[in-house]
Amino acid sequence: MSAAGTSAGDEVTWIGEDVGRVLVVVAHPDDIEYGGAAAIARWTAAGREAVYVLATRGEAGIDTIPPEDCAPLREDEQRRSAAIVGVDTVEFLDHVDGILEAGLELRRDLTSAIRRHRPDTILTLNHREFWGAEGGNRNSADHRALGEALLDAVADAGNRWIFPELGHPPHHTGQVLVCGSPRARHAIDVTGFVDVAIESLAAHAAYLEALGDHPMADVEFLRFMLEGAGVELGVEAAVRVERFGD
Ligand SMILES: [Zn+2]
Repeated sequence: MSAAGTSAGDEVTWIGEDVGRVLVVVAHPDDIEYGGAAAIARWTAAGREAVYVLATRGEAGIDTIPPEDCAPLREDEQRRSAAIVGVDTVEFLDHVDGILEAGLELRRDLTSAIRRHRPDTILTLNHREFWGAEGGNRNSADHRALGEALLDAVADAGNRWIFPELGHPPHHTGQVLVCGSPRARHAIDVTGFVDVAIESLAAHAAYLEALGDHPMADVEFLRFMLEGAGVELGVEAAVRVERFGD
């Protein structure tokens, strides 16, 4: 992902532990570790079940390692990262990193994942054009495509006449929460879960090493993000999210 930053205004609606079954859907290994995993850690500690589904293995993410070597490395790092926050099931949809398209193929695969895992809450990463204010850091093509396809797939999954060949009954997801969105108006208090979130991010060792001296290579960047949001919202640490739902 890229440098995060949100401006949610003064008021947020808090999301607690009443999230039911959680499905994380992101484009790449490490996408959920820059914030979202702190919320996952809180929810699994409270007994909620969570599953990760990744569209790609992030094989185009390290300049010095060719995709065929990078894919298994990053898959392994993602599985260890998930286990640290209490997630044992990690699935990869085998789309090609860097050229994700928000077309029917991705929608069908995401619809299948939603119907198989039947989540009450889906957690994902920013799909908006920018991180932070309009004109700031532009979000990547994969993140934009993943989010657009996912929001469509949430609707598709509930319609038995769309992708009937998938062989699972329709499913209605209660809410979709988007980490890192500049339109965040909700938040999750992750006080007490910053250290485990940092440990989860640190599991992406090869990726972080490849970032070199980029600020996001230092896992303490995550503490700065989570505690910074917390200070703004009157708690020790927080994850801001944009919410789609009833
Ligand atoms: Zn990413």
